[in-house]
Amino acid sequence: MFEKVLVANRGEIAVRVMAACEELGIGTVAVYSDADRDAGHVEYADEAYNVGPAPASESYLDQEAIVDVAERAGADAIHPGYGFLAENAEFARHVESTDGVAWVGPPSDAMETLGEKTNARTVMQAAGVPVVPGTTEPVADADEVRALGEEYGYPIAIKAEGGGGGRGMKIVRSEAEVADALESAKREGEAYFGNDSVYVEKYLESPKHIEVQVLADRHGNVRHLGERDCSLQRRHQKVIEEAPSPALDDDLRAEIGEAARRGVSEAGYTNAGTVEFLVEDTVASKTQRADGEAVDGEFYFMEVNTRIQVEHTVSEEVTGIDIVRWQLRVAAGEKLAFDQDDVEIDGHAIEYRINAENPAADFAPTPGQLTTYRPPASIGVRLDHAVAQGDEIGGDYDSMIAKLIVSGDDRDHCLERSKRALEHFAVEGVHTTIPFHRLLLDDETFVAGEHTTTYLDRELDDDV
Ligand code: ADP
Repeated sequence: MFEKVLVANRGEIAVRVMAACEELGIGTVAVYSDADRDAGHVEYADEAYNVGPAPASESYLDQEAIVDVAERAGADAIHPGYGFLAENAEFARHVESTDGVAWVGPPSDAMETLGEKTNARTVMQAAGVPVVPGTTEPVADADEVRALGEEYGYPIAIKAEGGGGGRGMKIVRSEAEVADALESAKREGEAYFGNDSVYVEKYLESPKHIEVQVLADRHGNVRHLGERDCSLQRRHQKVIEEAPSPALDDDLRAEIGEAARRGVSEAGYTNAGTVEFLVEDTVASKTQRADGEAVDGEFYFMEVNTRIQVEHTVSEEVTGIDIVRWQLRVAAGEKLAFDQDDVEIDGHAIEYRINAENPAADFAPTPGQLTTYRPPASIGVRLDHAVAQGDEIGGDYDSMIAKLIVSGDDRDHCLERSKRALEHFAVEGVHTTIPFHRLLLDDETFVAGEHTTTYLDRELDDDV
């Protein structure tokens, strides 16, 4: 096992990784920007090093500075968390080629293969996994896009090769919209991800977002830990995630899990990863089912996230498997110590992202000081955070304050506990998404588990 791990991240995920290190008897090294001198992750670590000014491009994204700290501190591995450099294959390669420092993540080659969305689609198809109808090569021009629109039927989505979180994705409802949409998808791809190549998919109007957590070791063992349902989204960004999905029956659940496993095996993947699917015609509507209407879910591969995800927590809660700990163990060469049959889903867990945003003002970030910060406690509540009362929530990084993860015997029980937990979550000084989550717990469609990825935007009357 490693002796000292550098965590190339900040906030709650840095603390989450350090907690796993601590349990394994591994020393921890934090890096921080000028804005984060007093941050929670710095306090938590055994040692901490400044890597530059507040802008992420000059600190948390500075590959040289981070590797340099690893060498100076004598760290024998780097864990990237999520965001920042986590899906950067070039950085992974840099770490892999640094003597005495291991990369806690998938091999850079597998990151490259699966990180490029069109490549990933080819790999999945080869593994017999259904993919969203679309191209496996970037598209050249508007004429080609129009031809594809004709072939798949509108609406279609033009998506940036490097995109994510709905950025660089444009929905096109008719031929007339193609030219403008192509331009802006390319522009966003270039601006956010430094890559203006785009591809085309059929746009599914109202699917469920279902993703499968996988873990793979270097000895050929690949396991999946069941699915998460991340269908509650605002402008294609996840707001609430849960496990298991209320929309899948056991057959579909097993089929999707198996497809995910097959797909990552094909790519020579190791470590933790997530295979994302869009699913249509699920048993999302329980009433439909009672009517005896046939609903056999169609699922389509969308993309692979080659890192630990924000919402890994809900899978941990229902499987009892510590995913971050396993990331460290398989990176150190250990074998996964459980079979697929050993993975059991027990109970239900929901994660609420508590962001410093004002739901009443289009979810605009509201930086400021946490004059009151009193999170809930007691049975069924897990809190992943790196803040305390009095802390400043700055404007330099994302607006997440905490992740509230609530567990229960089943979904109803979990929703009841969620009410209690959100009721007792007191934050003052900044606006938060807490009141919004409280409202959702009274929303019939959400409570019934019938929401799809476009539900919230339609309710909020946002652009869909
Ligand atoms: P991510 O944010 O997971 O990196 P994307 O930007 O590809 O990935 O997708 C984000 C969300 O956009 C999905 O969860 C889904 O709601 C929506 N989406 C992406 N592709 C499609 C599609 N072809 N049809 C319908 N919705 C899509």
